[in-house]
Amino acid sequence: MTKNIALVAHDQKKPEIIKWAMQHADKLKGHKLFATGTTGKLIQQGVPELAISPLKSGPLGGDQQLGAMIAEGQLDILFFFTDPMTPQPHDVDIKALLRLSTMYNCVVACNLATANFVIESPLFSLPQDHHVDFSAYTE
Ligand code: PGA
Repeated sequence: MTKNIALVAHDQKKPEIIKWAMQHADKLKGHKLFATGTTGKLIQQGVPELAISPLKSGPLGGDQQLGAMIAEGQLDILFFFTDPMTPQPHDVDIKALLRLSTMYNCVVACNLATANFVIESPLFSLPQDHHVDFSAYTE
């Protein structure tokens, strides 16, 4: 079952996500991969066997593009290696992306340990249910 998967890393975490993508290239290969601009470029250079559809750079709107995909039910998993130690100019976009991920029940991994859990999970290869019940908010 092919999934739509996004790969994003803040600057200090880019080496970590490249190494991680290299280690898990076999599992990632069968899926449709998206990435914010700089993360995508670096993963593409480090792991040329992975085909990645690039979005805008995060600070230029890439996080918002991913948020829109999530709201449209077009993203299954977000691997987002965040840096908790460095202020980000696009902090509001990051918050919006994580909020929409929660709201639309999108799988999100924000650190290496969770990314490993997700990619090693038996659920990784199964179809994903995007249904979310919003009735509690509309009555
Ligand atoms: P980048 O964006 O991959 O273009 O650096 C990541 C981010 O900071 O959201």
